[in-house]
Amino acid sequence: MKQTSHRFSQNVTRALAEPTLKLALDRTTTLLRSRRARVIADFPQYAQARETAQKIKDHTLDNLGHYLRQFEQNAIASGAQVHWAATPAEARKIVTDICTAEGAKTATRVKSMLGEEIGIGEALAEAGVERIETDLAEHIIQLAGDPPSHIVMPAMHKTHEQVAELFADKHAQPSATQDVPALVESARRELRPKFLNADISISGANFLIADTGSFITVTNEGNAELTTTPPRTHIVTVGIEKMVPSLKHAAVFLRLLSRAAIGTEITQYTTFYNGPKRAGDRDGPERVHIVLVDNHRSDMLSDFLRPMLRCIRCGACMNHCPVYSAVGGHAYGAVYPGPMGSVLTPAMTGLKGSKDLPNACTLNGRCKEVCPVNIPLPDMLRSLRARQFDAGMASPRTAWSLRLWAMLATRPALYRLATGAANIGLRVLARGRGKISAVPLAGGWTRTRDLPQPEAGTFMQQYKKKRH
Ligand code: SF4
Repeated sequence: MKQTSHRFSQNVTRALAEPTLKLALDRTTTLLRSRRARVIADFPQYAQARETAQKIKDHTLDNLGHYLRQFEQNAIASGAQVHWAATPAEARKIVTDICTAEGAKTATRVKSMLGEEIGIGEALAEAGVERIETDLAEHIIQLAGDPPSHIVMPAMHKTHEQVAELFADKHAQPSATQDVPALVESARRELRPKFLNADISISGANFLIADTGSFITVTNEGNAELTTTPPRTHIVTVGIEKMVPSLKHAAVFLRLLSRAAIGTEITQYTTFYNGPKRAGDRDGPERVHIVLVDNHRSDMLSDFLRPMLRCIRCGACMNHCPVYSAVGGHAYGAVYPGPMGSVLTPAMTGLKGSKDLPNACTLNGRCKEVCPVNIPLPDMLRSLRARQFDAGMASPRTAWSLRLWAMLATRPALYRLATGAANIGLRVLARGRGKISAVPLAGGWTRTRDLPQPEAGTFMQQYKKKRH
C-alpha cells in the first residue's frame, strides 16, 4: 500500500501550519455534516436500515467463501472473466498483463480506493499506459500530483480558488472565470476526448452481487458510465468484502451510502453491470475482467478487526472526526485516512509501520455514531493500542504512564488520594491567573494551549456534594 509518509506528528505540524488547508477542510466538512444530519432526520427508517445493513454484512462475512464462489460462477456465466489476487502485487500484475495483452496505451479510470490501495497508478506508469482520471476530484489531484486526502472527496484539501489556479496552469483551454460551473466546464473540455478514445477502462465497484454475478458503481458525475462504455475492455478491481447476497440486499446499502457520504437521498448515477456487451447491444465493452482482491481481508475475518470489513467507504467517520477535520487526510500518511484508515492501515500494513495511527484519535465516539454500518471504530482503536502495548511498541514514557494509570485505577483509595492531590496541585499552578500555561510532564498539551483552572475538588467530591 502506498504511503505518503510514516511521520504522523511531523505531518500534523505541517498541516496545522497551512491556513488554506484549514479553510478547505472547514468548508467541506461543515457542509457535509449539516447535509447528512438533515437527510438522516428526514429518513425515519434510518435506525432500522442501519441495523439491517449490519446484519446483511455480518451474514455475508460469515459465509463469504460461499458467496464468492457463487459470484464467480455467475459472473463467468454472464461472460466476464474473474481473477483472484491475494496481494496488491498480484492485482497489479493481473491489470498490467491485461493492458499489455490488449496493446493498451491509454486507460481511463473511475475513482476507486482499492485502486489506490494496490498502487494501480504506479503500475500503469511502469507498464507505459497513460492513466486518465475521470472523476473531477481525481482529475484535480492528478494534475496537482497529490494523493487523495479523503475516500469520497479526494481533493478535499484544495479550495476552489486553488483549483482555478491549477486549471489555468494545466488545461489547454481554461475558463476565463473562477466560479465552480466554469471550472467543471473546463475539466469537461479537457477530459471529453480522452473518455472517447481510451483503450481500456478501469473502475472499482461499490457492491458485488453474488446471485447475479453483477456489480454496482455509484457516482455523482456520471463518469463511471462514460468511462466504462466506449473502451473495448473494462477491468474492475474490487475488494472481496464488497459482496452482498442479492440486489435486494444491495438496495439497503444504496439507501444508506449516499446519505452518509454526501447527505443526499441517493447518488446521481447508480449503474448495474452484468458482463460484456451481448450480440445486438449497441455499446459497452467486449471484455470485462473482474479482479477480486484479498490483501489481508481474509486475515481480518478471524480477528477482532472483522467488523471493519462491513465498511462501505462512505467517509462519514472522517467528516465527523475532530482530528481529521483539523489536519486533513495527508497527515495520516496512508491511503485510507481518518478513523477507518487508522484501523484499516494497521490491518493491511502491520502495526509496526503505522503505530501512530491508532493513537491519532480522541476516542470521542462520533465516528461510530455516524457510521451507517455501526462499525465500533473507537473500540477497535482501543484494542489496537492494547495490542501495541502488549507487543512492547509503546514508547517508554507512554508505557510507564499506562502502568501508573493501571495501578491507580485498580486501587480506589489510592486513586482518590492521587486525583485529590493533582486537583490541589493544578489549582496552585493556576492561582491568580485562572489558567495553567505549563504542567510538568504535559508539555505536549500546554505548549500550544492553556489549561483552564480546575474546579475545587475532584469529580467524585463534587458529585457527592451535589447529590446531597
Ligand atoms: S467506517 Fe463507517 S463511517 Fe467510516 S467510511 Fe466505513 S462505513 Fe463509512
